[in-house]
Amino acid sequence: MLKPSDQPSHSVSLRGQTSAISHQPSAIRYRLHATGVVQGVGFRPFVYGLATRLDLKGWVCNTSSGVVIEIEGGADAMNEFRLALTLDAPPLARIDHLAVEPLPLNHFTRFEIRESESQPHAFQPISPDISICPDCLRELFDPKDRRYLYPFINCTNCGPRFTSITDIPYDRPKTTMASFEMCEDCAREYHDPLNRRFHAQPVACAKCGPKVWLVNSKQLSVNSDQSSVSSDQLSAIRNPQSAIEEAQRLVSEGKIIAIKGLGGFHLACDATNENAVTELRRRKGRIDKPFALMMPDVETVERYCFLSSEERALLESRERPIVLLMKREHADHPIAHSVAPHQHTLGVMLPYTPLHYLLLHPSREAFIIHPLVMTSGNFSEEPIATRNDDAITRLAPLADAFLIHDRDIHTRVDDSVVRVITTDSISNPQSLITNSQLLPLRRSRGYAPYPVKLPFNVPPLLAVGGELKNTFCVARDHYAFLSHHIGDMENLETLKSFEDGVTHFQNLFRINPEIIAHDLHPDYFSTRYALRTLRAHSAIRIPVQHHHAHIASCMAENNHKGDRSVIGVAFDGTGLGSDGAIWGGEFLIANYKSFDRAAHLAYIPLPGGDAATRKPARVAFSHLLAANVPLDLDLPPLAALSSTEQNIITKQIANGLNSPLTSSMGRLFDAVASIIGVRQEVNYEGQAAIELEAIVDPDEKGLYEFSVEQDAILPNAVIQSVVNDFRARVPTPIIAARFHNGVATMIRDVCIRLREQHAINQVALSGGVFQNVTLLSKALTLLHGADFEVLTHHLVPPNDGGIALGQAVIASYQ
Ligand SMILES: [Zn+2]
Ligand SMILES: [Zn+2]
Ligand SMILES: [Zn+2]
Repeated sequence: MLKPSDQPSHSVSLRGQTSAISHQPSAIRYRLHATGVVQGVGFRPFVYGLATRLDLKGWVCNTSSGVVIEIEGGADAMNEFRLALTLDAPPLARIDHLAVEPLPLNHFTRFEIRESESQPHAFQPISPDISICPDCLRELFDPKDRRYLYPFINCTNCGPRFTSITDIPYDRPKTTMASFEMCEDCAREYHDPLNRRFHAQPVACAKCGPKVWLVNSKQLSVNSDQSSVSSDQLSAIRNPQSAIEEAQRLVSEGKIIAIKGLGGFHLACDATNENAVTELRRRKGRIDKPFALMMPDVETVERYCFLSSEERALLESRERPIVLLMKREHADHPIAHSVAPHQHTLGVMLPYTPLHYLLLHPSREAFIIHPLVMTSGNFSEEPIATRNDDAITRLAPLADAFLIHDRDIHTRVDDSVVRVITTDSISNPQSLITNSQLLPLRRSRGYAPYPVKLPFNVPPLLAVGGELKNTFCVARDHYAFLSHHIGDMENLETLKSFEDGVTHFQNLFRINPEIIAHDLHPDYFSTRYALRTLRAHSAIRIPVQHHHAHIASCMAENNHKGDRSVIGVAFDGTGLGSDGAIWGGEFLIANYKSFDRAAHLAYIPLPGGDAATRKPARVAFSHLLAANVPLDLDLPPLAALSSTEQNIITKQIANGLNSPLTSSMGRLFDAVASIIGVRQEVNYEGQAAIELEAIVDPDEKGLYEFSVEQDAILPNAVIQSVVNDFRARVPTPIIAARFHNGVATMIRDVCIRLREQHAINQVALSGGVFQNVTLLSKALTLLHGADFEVLTHHLVPPNDGGIALGQAVIASYQ
């Protein structure tokens, strides 16, 4: 029902609709109430157009909780209207619920769009930033269009949203477009309900909107106290087209340029130029972690990568994530080896802003543009730079030039990263692309802050997430608003970005948390933030065990009501257990309320704690000791550790000194990678496991068997077999495959045991280890073969980027 405060304040008259409706006996009237993302996405003009086309009368209006439509006319047309309302809705609209209420006829004489006053306590889901739409793309390259080659062309169906919103209600003065006054032409489009740019808040053109220009780094002094890029900077290239062409020229010469985008700065260089990519690594201080690529179109992508139809659809989707694709050898201009060392995949995305299109599709044949490295504009592990002055100060040592613009970025948002699972036995009714087998690895631009719909209502709450790959979550009603990717909480900039993000989300979605949920780990920054915040609020604090949160996040995104328990398989690197040990190879019997630890990988000591996480050789040493394997120098981890180091590790393990116990599956992957010589030291999280997966021989069917005693899963026989095969010179791709097959089989076998004990047939797979699609698809095939119903991630990442959602649902149940 409309509350009095929801009543329209005034109405806009449209095209003098005066023809009186012929009220046949079959005429009916409805009030329809649509909730979801229905504001700021062209929904009212769409309704207007549809009603006019069907000769229906009435009105449409935004309210505090969605859109209300009162409409009347013949029964057939009314049915068609209701059907088209959900089927043909504009691309960015997402109707979560449509309530229909029949009413007596009102004898409207026309259809109109009514405007409502802003609602102080209203909250609306906000659209993520969306890649340029086909209509705008066509106009961008149409010499007759008035926005020909304009780098900030957008409309109701595309362009910046979340990154530009400073407050709600979503209206131009509350976006980073506030300082740009619309020219007459833009204003006319903005106010015309039949125009594609009706109420498109970022609407602009070359006459009135943001501008792009290029600054050479040599002309900047990093230590100067300049606080902004002023227009009097002499040698800047001000002409937009010349600026873009100069950027193209610099890239083709092997230079590195910083490009201001939608959610932050990218550093770009020619991905086929080994020297340029190596230089970028040197400047960024990034040793091996792969760089993402941007390619002009799918045809180019297919020259460098294998592409399934699902992967192609994801690349071209309006979310435009980075998709991890299997590498293909390419003779002419191979991608530089240093783009993704020791990987069998490349992370690729298509252009998603008009500026990207102009860069990658030169209007003149002056330069051949190769695929570009497009990596976030920052030093390693710092948040992406967003402000011009900040970016120029921080990035000047990294970039040779800046392609910059004057539309501010309010919220920094990194590119999203996804993978496609290649099994044929999964159905994902809730997936972002219907029936695709999407696995999100980083959920950020294009997806955040679109909410995850919960199967039940929750009180207003905040869940602060974990330590690595942090995201947080605010929730109310049946919505969980999971934040964009914040990052690893290890420097002041990231912590600040976390705190600003939490404040912004609470404000945008009008959430004053009654509950604050956090990880059990007392030293996580997010935990300390939760405790600090609590002193200022009267909220209830709820600590949540890390792996319980992983499983709950998987249940929640699959719309699990929590009425019965699942067998939760939570495999990751590190998470504090309720017994004080470091967990990570866990089988939980779990629901939202509680969990039992039903089985886990046997504990081993982790000599040196964090030091062992950075040095797989140390973990291998510990696993070899536990498996009673003679420590001979022919084994790579032994060769990688000095004798002094070996002595220290031996003592640490014997005395339990700085050697926390761990059941981590991630560390078991590290140990195996180390034993067969894949990697002894890592310089980014998960590196050893990723490189182990990269060499798996897909045709190998053999496996190493785990033994299970009570609730302990013993890897000793696996370690012994790995060593024996390695010493027998079995090729490492075969060993890697047998190990993956062994882990997948163990998952199935333990699940079968637990099904017998607990009469549960539903399995949830979560935790960072399940980013490994080789393991995930093998496990899925085996579990489906044993008739399990399996829940996997397709909305939020299986890694720690998803646990805030789990914390939120668990806390709401306490
Ligand atoms: Zn558009
Ligand atoms: Zn204009
Ligand atoms: Zn985890």
